[in-house]
Amino acid sequence: MFENKDESRTSLGELGEFGLINHLTQTFKIKQSSTVTAIGDDAAVIDPDGKQLVVTTDLLVEGVHFDLSFMPLKHLGYKAVMVNLSDVYAMNAEATQITVSIAVSNRFPLEALEELYAGIELACSIYNVDLIGGDTTSSTTGLLISVTALGQAEPATLVKRDGAKDGDLLVVSGDLGASYMGLQVLEREKQVYKVNPNAQPDLEPYAYLVERQLKPEARKDVVELLKKIEVQPTAMIDISDGLSSEIIHLCKSSKTGVRLYEEKIPLDPQLIQVCEEFELDSTTVALSGGEDYELLFTIKQEDYEKIKGNPHLTVIGHITPENDGLNLITRANTSIPIVARGWNALKDEE
Ligand code: ADP
Ligand code: MG
Repeated sequence: MFENKDESRTSLGELGEFGLINHLTQTFKIKQSSTVTAIGDDAAVIDPDGKQLVVTTDLLVEGVHFDLSFMPLKHLGYKAVMVNLSDVYAMNAEATQITVSIAVSNRFPLEALEELYAGIELACSIYNVDLIGGDTTSSTTGLLISVTALGQAEPATLVKRDGAKDGDLLVVSGDLGASYMGLQVLEREKQVYKVNPNAQPDLEPYAYLVERQLKPEARKDVVELLKKIEVQPTAMIDISDGLSSEIIHLCKSSKTGVRLYEEKIPLDPQLIQVCEEFELDSTTVALSGGEDYELLFTIKQEDYEKIKGNPHLTVIGHITPENDGLNLITRANTSIPIVARGWNALKDEE
Protein backbone atom coordinates (compact mmCIF):
# COMPACT_ATOMS: atom_id res chain seq x y z
CA MET A 1 0.00 0.00 0.00
CA PHE A 2 1.12 3.57 -0.81
CA GLU A 3 4.20 2.41 -2.68
CA ASN A 4 5.17 2.70 -6.30
CA LYS A 5 5.68 -0.85 -7.42
CA ASP A 6 8.00 -1.18 -10.38
CA GLU A 7 6.48 -4.33 -11.79
CA SER A 8 6.53 -5.48 -15.38
CA ARG A 9 4.53 -3.23 -17.66
CA THR A 10 2.94 -4.37 -20.89
CA SER A 11 1.59 -1.45 -22.88
CA LEU A 12 -2.09 -1.73 -23.83
CA GLY A 13 -1.20 -0.70 -27.38
CA GLU A 14 0.67 -3.99 -27.87
CA LEU A 15 -2.57 -6.00 -27.65
CA GLY A 16 -5.10 -3.92 -29.56
CA GLU A 17 -8.70 -3.58 -28.39
CA PHE A 18 -9.92 -7.07 -29.28
CA GLY A 19 -6.77 -8.70 -27.96
CA LEU A 20 -7.23 -6.79 -24.71
CA ILE A 21 -10.91 -7.74 -24.26
CA ASN A 22 -10.12 -11.36 -25.03
CA HIS A 23 -7.14 -11.38 -22.69
CA LEU A 24 -9.11 -9.90 -19.80
CA THR A 25 -12.21 -12.03 -20.14
CA GLN A 26 -11.02 -15.42 -21.44
CA THR A 27 -10.97 -17.13 -18.01
CA PHE A 28 -14.50 -16.05 -16.96
CA LYS A 29 -16.89 -19.01 -16.80
CA ILE A 30 -20.64 -18.98 -17.52
CA LYS A 31 -22.67 -20.18 -14.51
CA GLN A 32 -26.26 -19.03 -15.00
CA SER A 33 -28.71 -21.05 -17.10
CA SER A 34 -30.39 -17.76 -18.12
CA THR A 35 -27.20 -16.63 -19.93
CA VAL A 36 -27.74 -17.71 -23.54
CA THR A 37 -25.00 -15.67 -25.27
CA ALA A 38 -22.26 -13.78 -23.44
CA ILE A 39 -19.14 -11.93 -24.66
CA GLY A 40 -18.29 -12.07 -28.36
CA ASP A 41 -21.41 -11.21 -30.30
CA ASP A 42 -23.02 -7.84 -31.01
CA ALA A 43 -25.17 -8.18 -27.90
CA ALA A 44 -25.67 -10.62 -25.06
CA VAL A 45 -28.79 -12.79 -24.94
CA ILE A 46 -30.66 -13.64 -21.72
CA ASP A 47 -33.64 -15.93 -21.21
CA PRO A 48 -35.50 -14.66 -18.11
CA ASP A 49 -37.82 -17.71 -18.09
CA GLY A 50 -40.95 -15.98 -16.78
CA LYS A 51 -39.12 -14.04 -14.09
CA GLN A 52 -39.04 -10.27 -13.75
CA LEU A 53 -35.78 -8.76 -14.93
CA VAL A 54 -34.00 -6.28 -12.61
CA VAL A 55 -31.44 -3.85 -14.07
CA THR A 56 -29.15 -1.38 -12.28
CA THR A 57 -26.01 0.52 -13.19
CA ASP A 58 -23.30 2.55 -11.45
CA LEU A 59 -20.45 4.64 -12.80
CA LEU A 60 -17.24 4.95 -10.76
CA VAL A 61 -14.80 7.75 -11.55
CA GLU A 62 -11.20 7.93 -10.34
CA GLY A 63 -10.69 10.84 -7.95
CA VAL A 64 -14.42 11.06 -7.26
CA HIS A 65 -15.39 7.55 -6.15
CA PHE A 66 -12.02 5.95 -5.54
CA ASP A 67 -8.40 6.86 -4.84
CA LEU A 68 -5.88 4.46 -6.38
CA SER A 69 -3.17 5.51 -3.93
CA PHE A 70 -4.80 3.30 -1.30
CA MET A 71 -7.34 1.30 -3.30
CA PRO A 72 -5.69 -1.78 -4.83
CA LEU A 73 -7.08 -2.41 -8.34
CA LYS A 74 -8.21 -5.92 -7.45
CA HIS A 75 -10.30 -4.52 -4.61
CA LEU A 76 -11.65 -1.81 -6.91
CA GLY A 77 -12.86 -4.43 -9.38
CA TYR A 78 -14.49 -6.39 -6.58
CA LYS A 79 -16.13 -3.31 -5.06
CA ALA A 80 -17.41 -2.04 -8.42
CA VAL A 81 -19.32 -5.33 -8.76
CA MET A 82 -20.52 -5.27 -5.12
CA VAL A 83 -22.09 -1.82 -5.28
CA ASN A 84 -24.22 -3.03 -8.20
CA LEU A 85 -25.14 -6.43 -6.80
CA SER A 86 -26.21 -4.68 -3.60
CA ASP A 87 -28.86 -2.78 -5.61
CA VAL A 88 -30.13 -6.04 -7.13
CA TYR A 89 -30.38 -7.70 -3.68
CA ALA A 90 -32.22 -4.62 -2.39
CA MET A 91 -35.03 -5.62 -4.79
CA ASN A 92 -35.06 -9.08 -3.15
CA ALA A 93 -33.85 -10.40 -6.50
CA GLU A 94 -31.11 -12.85 -7.48
CA ALA A 95 -28.17 -11.24 -9.30
CA THR A 96 -27.39 -13.16 -12.49
CA GLN A 97 -25.29 -11.16 -14.97
CA ILE A 98 -23.08 -8.05 -15.20
CA THR A 99 -21.55 -5.96 -17.94
CA VAL A 100 -18.36 -3.99 -17.29
CA SER A 101 -17.29 -0.94 -19.27
CA ILE A 102 -13.96 0.75 -18.74
CA ALA A 103 -12.22 3.88 -19.97
CA VAL A 104 -8.44 3.75 -19.40
CA SER A 105 -5.52 6.02 -20.13
CA ASN A 106 -2.16 4.66 -21.32
CA ARG A 107 -0.88 5.34 -17.79
CA PHE A 108 -2.26 1.86 -17.01
CA PRO A 109 -0.31 -1.16 -18.20
CA LEU A 110 -1.98 -4.48 -19.02
CA GLU A 111 -0.92 -5.80 -15.60
CA ALA A 112 -3.09 -3.16 -13.88
CA LEU A 113 -6.17 -4.19 -15.86
CA GLU A 114 -5.43 -7.84 -15.09
CA GLU A 115 -5.61 -6.94 -11.40
CA LEU A 116 -8.90 -5.10 -11.91
CA TYR A 117 -10.38 -8.08 -13.75
CA ALA A 118 -9.07 -10.52 -11.13
CA GLY A 119 -11.24 -8.67 -8.60
CA ILE A 120 -14.22 -8.69 -10.98
CA GLU A 121 -13.76 -12.42 -11.62
CA LEU A 122 -13.53 -13.20 -7.90
CA ALA A 123 -16.78 -11.30 -7.28
CA CYS A 124 -18.46 -13.13 -10.17
CA SER A 125 -17.44 -16.53 -8.89
CA ILE A 126 -18.38 -15.91 -5.23
CA TYR A 127 -21.72 -14.32 -6.12
CA ASN A 128 -22.49 -16.68 -9.01
CA VAL A 129 -22.95 -14.05 -11.70
CA ASP A 130 -21.83 -14.09 -15.34
CA LEU A 131 -19.83 -11.37 -17.10
CA ILE A 132 -21.73 -11.04 -20.38
CA GLY A 133 -20.26 -7.97 -22.04
CA GLY A 134 -19.08 -4.42 -21.75
CA ASP A 135 -17.18 -1.77 -23.61
CA THR A 136 -13.56 -0.68 -23.67
CA THR A 137 -12.36 2.77 -24.59
CA SER A 138 -9.50 5.14 -23.89
CA SER A 139 -9.51 8.03 -21.46
CA THR A 140 -7.24 11.08 -21.45
CA THR A 141 -7.48 11.44 -17.69
CA GLY A 142 -8.22 8.82 -15.06
CA LEU A 143 -9.90 5.44 -14.91
CA LEU A 144 -13.67 5.06 -15.30
CA ILE A 145 -15.58 1.88 -14.58
CA SER A 146 -19.24 1.40 -15.30
CA VAL A 147 -20.91 -1.81 -14.16
CA THR A 148 -24.45 -2.83 -15.03
CA ALA A 149 -25.97 -5.68 -13.06
CA LEU A 150 -28.96 -7.79 -14.08
CA GLY A 151 -31.03 -9.93 -11.81
CA GLN A 152 -34.26 -11.84 -11.73
CA ALA A 153 -37.10 -12.21 -9.27
CA GLU A 154 -40.45 -13.94 -9.07
CA PRO A 155 -43.06 -11.18 -9.50
CA ALA A 156 -44.61 -12.10 -6.13
CA THR A 157 -41.40 -11.75 -4.11
CA LEU A 158 -39.84 -8.65 -5.68
CA VAL A 159 -39.57 -5.87 -3.04
CA LYS A 160 -39.70 -2.15 -3.76
CA ARG A 161 -39.24 0.91 -1.54
CA ASP A 162 -42.88 1.85 -1.41
CA GLY A 163 -44.51 -0.97 0.54
CA ALA A 164 -43.87 -0.06 4.20
CA LYS A 165 -47.01 0.25 6.37
CA ASP A 166 -47.75 1.82 9.76
CA GLY A 167 -46.68 -0.61 12.49
CA ASP A 168 -44.08 -2.48 10.38
CA LEU A 169 -40.70 -3.07 12.03
CA LEU A 170 -37.59 -1.38 10.58
CA VAL A 171 -34.69 -3.85 10.30
CA VAL A 172 -31.06 -3.49 9.21
CA SER A 173 -28.46 -6.15 8.41
CA GLY A 174 -24.86 -6.13 9.73
CA ASP A 175 -23.45 -3.02 11.35
CA LEU A 176 -23.12 0.59 10.17
CA GLY A 177 -20.52 3.34 9.84
CA ALA A 178 -17.42 1.13 9.55
CA SER A 179 -16.76 1.81 5.86
CA TYR A 180 -16.79 5.58 6.38
CA MET A 181 -14.35 5.35 9.29
CA GLY A 182 -12.15 3.00 7.24
CA LEU A 183 -11.92 5.74 4.62
CA GLN A 184 -11.02 8.32 7.30
CA VAL A 185 -8.19 6.05 8.50
CA LEU A 186 -6.86 5.50 4.95
CA GLU A 187 -6.98 9.21 4.14
CA ARG A 188 -5.13 10.03 7.36
CA GLU A 189 -2.43 7.46 6.58
CA LYS A 190 -2.11 8.87 3.05
CA GLN A 191 -1.31 12.30 4.53
CA VAL A 192 1.27 10.74 6.85
CA TYR A 193 2.83 8.93 3.88
CA LYS A 194 3.03 12.17 1.86
CA VAL A 195 5.08 13.79 4.62
CA ASN A 196 7.21 10.73 5.36
CA PRO A 197 7.28 8.06 2.62
CA ASN A 198 9.29 5.74 4.87
CA ALA A 199 6.57 5.53 7.51
CA GLN A 200 4.81 2.16 7.26
CA PRO A 201 1.19 2.49 8.30
CA ASP A 202 0.07 0.11 11.04
CA LEU A 203 -3.48 -0.64 9.96
CA GLU A 204 -3.91 -3.67 12.22
CA PRO A 205 -6.03 -1.82 14.86
CA TYR A 206 -8.28 -0.63 12.01
CA ALA A 207 -8.46 -3.91 10.08
CA TYR A 208 -12.25 -4.32 10.19
CA LEU A 209 -12.95 -0.71 9.19
CA VAL A 210 -10.43 -0.73 6.33
CA GLU A 211 -11.79 -4.04 5.05
CA ARG A 212 -15.33 -2.66 5.05
CA GLN A 213 -14.14 0.29 2.93
CA LEU A 214 -11.89 -1.61 0.52
CA LYS A 215 -13.69 -4.94 0.23
CA PRO A 216 -17.40 -4.58 0.98
CA GLU A 217 -19.73 -7.56 0.54
CA ALA A 218 -23.24 -7.27 -0.90
CA ARG A 219 -25.82 -9.05 1.28
CA LYS A 220 -26.79 -11.97 -0.95
CA ASP A 221 -26.78 -14.05 2.25
CA VAL A 222 -29.51 -11.86 3.78
CA VAL A 223 -31.78 -12.24 0.74
CA GLU A 224 -31.28 -16.01 0.93
CA LEU A 225 -31.88 -16.00 4.68
CA LEU A 226 -35.16 -14.09 4.33
CA LYS A 227 -36.32 -16.59 1.72
CA LYS A 228 -35.37 -19.52 3.95
CA ILE A 229 -37.17 -18.20 7.05
CA GLU A 230 -40.12 -17.14 4.89
CA VAL A 231 -40.01 -13.44 5.62
CA GLN A 232 -41.23 -11.25 2.75
CA PRO A 233 -40.07 -7.65 3.45
CA THR A 234 -42.71 -5.00 2.78
CA ALA A 235 -40.11 -2.47 1.56
CA MET A 236 -36.33 -2.62 1.09
CA ILE A 237 -33.36 -0.42 0.11
CA ASP A 238 -29.59 -0.84 0.34
CA ILE A 239 -27.48 1.54 2.39
CA SER A 240 -25.09 3.31 0.05
CA ASP A 241 -25.47 6.93 1.20
CA GLY A 242 -25.98 6.49 4.94
CA LEU A 243 -28.81 5.24 7.13
CA SER A 244 -30.66 8.55 7.48
CA SER A 245 -30.87 9.26 3.77
CA GLU A 246 -32.03 5.68 3.01
CA ILE A 247 -34.69 5.87 5.73
CA ILE A 248 -35.92 9.11 4.16
CA HIS A 249 -36.09 7.46 0.69
CA LEU A 250 -37.98 4.47 2.04
CA CYS A 251 -40.47 6.49 4.08
CA LYS A 252 -41.07 9.07 1.32
CA SER A 253 -41.77 6.29 -1.20
CA SER A 254 -44.03 4.48 1.27
CA LYS A 255 -45.73 7.70 2.49
CA THR A 256 -45.02 6.88 6.15
CA GLY A 257 -43.23 8.24 9.18
CA VAL A 258 -40.70 6.34 11.31
CA ARG A 259 -39.31 6.09 14.84
CA LEU A 260 -35.62 5.11 14.82
CA TYR A 261 -33.99 4.25 18.17
CA GLU A 262 -30.40 5.46 18.55
CA GLU A 263 -29.54 2.76 21.11
CA LYS A 264 -30.57 0.03 18.64
CA ILE A 265 -28.29 1.08 15.75
CA PRO A 266 -25.74 -1.76 15.37
CA LEU A 267 -22.14 -0.55 15.72
CA ASP A 268 -18.96 -2.65 15.73
CA PRO A 269 -16.76 -2.17 18.85
CA GLN A 270 -13.85 -1.14 16.59
CA LEU A 271 -16.02 1.61 15.09
CA ILE A 272 -16.88 2.97 18.55
CA GLN A 273 -13.22 3.00 19.55
CA VAL A 274 -11.97 4.70 16.37
CA CYS A 275 -14.77 7.30 16.49
CA GLU A 276 -13.43 8.24 19.93
CA GLU A 277 -9.92 8.52 18.50
CA PHE A 278 -11.16 10.80 15.70
CA GLU A 279 -13.49 12.67 18.07
CA LEU A 280 -16.52 11.87 15.93
CA ASP A 281 -19.95 10.88 17.22
CA SER A 282 -20.54 7.24 16.26
CA THR A 283 -24.29 7.72 15.78
CA THR A 284 -23.63 10.58 13.35
CA VAL A 285 -21.16 8.38 11.46
CA ALA A 286 -23.67 5.52 11.26
CA LEU A 287 -26.45 7.87 10.12
CA SER A 288 -24.46 9.80 7.53
CA GLY A 289 -21.33 7.80 6.65
CA GLY A 290 -22.52 5.59 3.83
CA GLU A 291 -20.98 2.82 1.69
CA ASP A 292 -22.19 0.20 4.18
CA TYR A 293 -23.98 -1.88 1.51
CA GLU A 294 -26.20 -3.34 4.20
CA LEU A 295 -29.91 -3.94 3.59
CA LEU A 296 -32.54 -1.79 5.30
CA PHE A 297 -36.05 -3.22 5.20
CA THR A 298 -39.43 -3.34 6.85
CA ILE A 299 -41.35 -6.43 7.94
CA LYS A 300 -44.81 -7.08 9.32
CA GLN A 301 -44.91 -7.28 13.14
CA GLU A 302 -46.12 -10.88 12.95
CA ASP A 303 -42.78 -11.84 11.30
CA TYR A 304 -40.77 -10.65 14.32
CA GLU A 305 -40.55 -14.14 15.84
CA LYS A 306 -38.86 -15.41 12.64
CA ILE A 307 -35.97 -12.91 12.80
CA LYS A 308 -35.67 -12.60 16.60
CA GLY A 309 -32.15 -13.38 17.84
CA ASN A 310 -30.64 -13.61 14.36
CA PRO A 311 -27.08 -12.20 14.65
CA HIS A 312 -27.22 -10.67 11.14
CA LEU A 313 -30.42 -8.67 11.70
CA THR A 314 -31.32 -5.86 14.11
CA VAL A 315 -34.69 -4.18 14.64
CA ILE A 316 -33.85 -0.47 14.86
CA GLY A 317 -37.29 1.11 14.84
CA HIS A 318 -40.82 1.00 13.51
CA ILE A 319 -42.98 2.66 10.88
CA THR A 320 -45.51 5.30 11.95
CA PRO A 321 -48.20 7.32 10.13
CA GLU A 322 -46.83 9.91 7.69
CA ASN A 323 -48.06 12.82 9.84
CA ASP A 324 -45.85 11.74 12.76
CA GLY A 325 -42.76 12.51 10.66
CA LEU A 326 -39.31 10.91 10.71
CA ASN A 327 -37.85 10.85 14.22
CA LEU A 328 -34.70 9.66 15.93
CA ILE A 329 -35.26 8.73 19.57
CA THR A 330 -31.95 9.46 21.27
CA ARG A 331 -30.38 7.59 24.20
CA ALA A 332 -31.58 10.46 26.38
CA ASN A 333 -35.10 9.66 25.15
CA THR A 334 -35.61 12.89 23.24
CA SER A 335 -37.05 12.93 19.75
CA ILE A 336 -35.20 14.76 16.96
CA PRO A 337 -36.08 14.91 13.24
CA ILE A 338 -34.06 12.69 10.89
CA VAL A 339 -32.37 14.76 8.19
CA ALA A 340 -30.25 13.64 5.23
CA ARG A 341 -26.80 15.06 5.66
CA GLY A 342 -24.44 12.70 3.90
CA TRP A 343 -20.72 13.11 3.62
CA ASN A 344 -20.55 16.87 3.26
CA ALA A 345 -22.19 17.58 6.59
CA LEU A 346 -19.81 15.14 8.26
CA LYS A 347 -16.83 16.87 6.69
CA ASP A 348 -18.02 20.29 7.96
CA GLU A 349 -18.19 18.94 11.48
CA GLU A 350 -14.55 17.87 11.58
P1 ADP B 1 -18.90 -3.40 -30.52
O1 ADP B 1 -17.90 -2.76 -31.42
O2 ADP B 1 -19.98 -4.17 -31.20
O3 ADP B 1 -19.39 -2.47 -29.43
P2 ADP B 1 -16.84 -4.41 -28.84
O4 ADP B 1 -15.63 -4.59 -29.65
O5 ADP B 1 -16.94 -3.17 -27.99
O6 ADP B 1 -18.11 -4.56 -29.76
O7 ADP B 1 -17.04 -5.65 -27.88
C1 ADP B 1 -16.86 -6.98 -28.33
C2 ADP B 1 -17.41 -7.91 -27.27
O8 ADP B 1 -16.64 -7.79 -26.08
C3 ADP B 1 -18.84 -7.62 -26.89
O9 ADP B 1 -19.44 -8.85 -26.53
C4 ADP B 1 -18.69 -6.74 -25.68
O10 ADP B 1 -19.83 -6.81 -24.85
C5 ADP B 1 -17.44 -7.34 -25.00
N1 ADP B 1 -16.65 -6.37 -24.23
C6 ADP B 1 -16.10 -5.21 -24.69
N2 ADP B 1 -15.39 -4.59 -23.71
C7 ADP B 1 -15.51 -5.35 -22.61
C8 ADP B 1 -15.02 -5.25 -21.27
N3 ADP B 1 -14.27 -4.23 -20.85
N4 ADP B 1 -15.34 -6.22 -20.40
C9 ADP B 1 -16.11 -7.25 -20.80
N5 ADP B 1 -16.59 -7.43 -22.03
C10 ADP B 1 -16.30 -6.49 -22.95
MG1 MG C 1 -18.07 -1.53 -28.06
